[in-house]
Amino acid sequence: MMREMASSDTPRPASTALHPTGGFLTGFTHSLQPYIGCRFGCAYCYVRESNVHRFFNGGFAWGEYAFPRQGVDEKLAQELACYQRKGQLDSLSIFCSSSTDPYQGAEREWELTRRCLQAFVERPPGLLVVQTRGPLVRRDFDLLAALGRRCWLSMTLETDRDEVRRALTPRCPSVHQRVQTIRAARDAGLNVQVAVSPCLPYSTVDEFGSLLAELGQRVVVDSYISGDGQGGKRTARTAIPAEYARLGWGAWQGEEAARALYRWLHQRMGEQAGWSQAGFTHLADRQSTGQSIHQ
Ligand code: SF4
Repeated sequence: MMREMASSDTPRPASTALHPTGGFLTGFTHSLQPYIGCRFGCAYCYVRESNVHRFFNGGFAWGEYAFPRQGVDEKLAQELACYQRKGQLDSLSIFCSSSTDPYQGAEREWELTRRCLQAFVERPPGLLVVQTRGPLVRRDFDLLAALGRRCWLSMTLETDRDEVRRALTPRCPSVHQRVQTIRAARDAGLNVQVAVSPCLPYSTVDEFGSLLAELGQRVVVDSYISGDGQGGKRTARTAIPAEYARLGWGAWQGEEAARALYRWLHQRMGEQAGWSQAGFTHLADRQSTGQSIHQ
């Protein structure tokens, strides 16, 4: 008899919650993934090459599944209680999430990210960065606000041109939806970082730069070459080279547009404009050396 294949949203019981970081996120002590997989399925996503996808894909292609890590919130609460007993909560700096989006569609039903945030409010870590492109995060502004200075919302906005967004990330929320979400987050008093990661073709430096400087207290700009961890080799194995050729966008390896945007922002925002890995780990680096992470 043939075994029935699990569906693309079958829950997987979580054995742990916090994972020690390395590589690109060195500086943060841990990452947290409420889901395995990501239905946003961005053309440039590097997670499709990771062991997470390789070993846990359940027979599905990258972008076609999102397995809820059932019980991850309870594991998190236990692990945070343990750190609290050892007096180590303040030394934690957590990035949520690096290999999934915590506010993709599945979160509407499962509320795992929300329940993890509730655990953080009970026992706040030194730093929590919530990285997403999902407007669903608005639902949880109350919890992010309750974490106050310890928490940063980092919203991905790789371009200000929605036709570019549609070409490479058609399942992701529109530029307009994300801009509105960021504005709402600022209105709610949250700390907001905007991640231009990776930087995609945009309007003009002045236009996109002005929007970014208005939106974020911090902005991080990244490129395929600096940001994929292998000098562009990982990107070369994605659909990006073929898409850039098909769309007539020129060489995908070119970093100059991303660097020009970063320079423009740096002139106006100083160290609140960050480049690539150093930009992403800036908050964790400050937190670990006892410096203020509130801008
Ligand atoms: S949202 Fe992030 S994790 Fe999800 S596919 Fe896109 S880049 Fe990958």
